[in-house]
Amino acid sequence: MPKSMSFCLAFTAVAIFSAALPAKQSARPRSEDGQTVSRTAKPEDTELWQPAPRVVTPGAEYGAPPSDAIILFDGKNLDQWVSSKDKSPAKWMVASGVVTVNKAAGDIETKRKFRNYQLHIEWRVPENVTGSGQARGNSGVFLAATGPDDGYELQVLDSYENQTYVNGMAGSIYKQSIPFVNPTRRPGEWQIYDVVWTAPAFGGDGSLKSPAYATVFFNGVLVDNHFELKGVTRYIGQPYYREHGAAPIRLQAHGDPSPPISFRNIWVRELD
Ligand code: MG
Repeated sequence: MPKSMSFCLAFTAVAIFSAALPAKQSARPRSEDGQTVSRTAKPEDTELWQPAPRVVTPGAEYGAPPSDAIILFDGKNLDQWVSSKDKSPAKWMVASGVVTVNKAAGDIETKRKFRNYQLHIEWRVPENVTGSGQARGNSGVFLAATGPDDGYELQVLDSYENQTYVNGMAGSIYKQSIPFVNPTRRPGEWQIYDVVWTAPAFGGDGSLKSPAYATVFFNGVLVDNHFELKGVTRYIGQPYYREHGAAPIRLQAHGDPSPPISFRNIWVRELD
């Protein structure tokens, strides 16, 4: 095609495209989806300038705590944690920036209590893990520990090529939700949970005003989306709600015989 002709075609195409663009917005009233816009309406009428979201400095890289996070474990000590059974200092092992479950010592929980929050927590099943099903790297994050053996458990388990009931695999709200997908990395690699927890609300007379919800990203992949919980986790029987207030976050020392798992980089942002 001669150069002049191709230029001509291109010019025509631009002209047609330009004609198809909407004309400059006029000040005349117009109807959108059956709504009449007032003759005096201005764009500024629907602009909100207050309250301005406060400034938060994000972590330098993904997973690093932002400036408003409460650090629950930064690799140094368990000052933010106690033993669940008697509230004595937590007795899990801290070494090389990592805390490893001490199965004999039992669960640990935060000294602080929380309602609604965003949680970041990383966990690793050891490379030499043994066992199968629920007896392979089992632990858990109780998103609200509502009693010595009570709470809402986000399951931790080696779910890399390890079959079990799907509402009990990693990423499940134990025996309640089935994760959308299974993004588990192989044993020996770090796994990441990012959780948005909405605590249940109660009427003061024991009645449930609104249920708990959990949104979970597992290794950056959405596995539970605003999942409505039916109550506290039950190993046997159906979940149910019992009134409670702010609650600690608890980590599970599961009694299965497989080598203990580890956690690192745990932080939370309160949302209320
Ligand atoms: Mg568990």
